[in-house]
Amino acid sequence: MTTAFITLGLFDILDILLVAFLLYQVYMLIKGTVAINIFVGLSLFYLMWLFVRALNMQLLSSILGQFIGVGVIALIIVFQPEIRRFLLLLGTRYNVSQRFNLHNWFALDERGIPDIEIRSVVGACEYMSKTKTGALIVIAKNMDLQSYADTGQILKARVSKNLLETIFFKNSPLHDGAVVWANSRLLAARCILPVSDDTNIPGSLGLRHRAAIGMTQATDSHVITVSEETGNISYVMGGNIKVRISPSELRTFLEGDFSSFII
Ligand code: ATP
Ligand code: MG
Repeated sequence: MTTAFITLGLFDILDILLVAFLLYQVYMLIKGTVAINIFVGLSLFYLMWLFVRALNMQLLSSILGQFIGVGVIALIIVFQPEIRRFLLLLGTRYNVSQRFNLHNWFALDERGIPDIEIRSVVGACEYMSKTKTGALIVIAKNMDLQSYADTGQILKARVSKNLLETIFFKNSPLHDGAVVWANSRLLAARCILPVSDDTNIPGSLGLRHRAAIGMTQATDSHVITVSEETGNISYVMGGNIKVRISPSELRTFLEGDFSSFII
């Protein structure tokens, strides 16, 4: 006997809830980026295919079907940066290596940034803030930032207040771009960072701040900026920017985030 109603089991409801949850997560991830338009476009394309197929329009449904067939590969190519960011966030947000004590299992070294380095950087930022000297400092966490360092001038120098102030001094040949700070060294200066295409970033923030946000979306690094226009210090992590923080707040952030991490 056929019934007019579709039978709905417990697992069907669970299935629908899971799909809804995943779609919501995808939406939250790409909200405000150009990817949302692509996502809407692809969804419309898929709906059209379902519609055409239901109406039994052979030719059109087979043409559209050809595109749907390679859909997964196309999705991976089109959303490559978002998928990358999603996986990266998953790993860092839940802090997989610390939660499961991977550093004990694999005998990884756990250490933080020495206090003397934090003091040098905070001191330099305070001075650059007062003198309205623009600065962009990337602090490496677990990911290797060598490819970003390679876009600039390699330094491999010890971290010092004077060196940072000298690099970002307006007339210095190295002042343009970012400094990469990793493993107790200033690896390079004049580095080029990826600029974020997030449309939610306030228009008052220019390229320096967009590059800082972009860098923390592409990697697990944190970034400090000092604005040349306002002298404001900002701290960026995971795509979120905290603008106009004081030197002592910067110190608290650095101590909290880098007191110990796995290398
Ligand atoms: P400020 O408040 O200091 O003016 P801003 O956010 O308004 O910062 P811009 O004035 O657009 O930024 O750019 C200032 C500097 O930021 C540039 O001169 C350059 O040194 C640096 N910068 C801009 N884009 C990048 C990038 N993609 N990677 C590295 N550095 C960058
Ligand atoms: Mg500017």
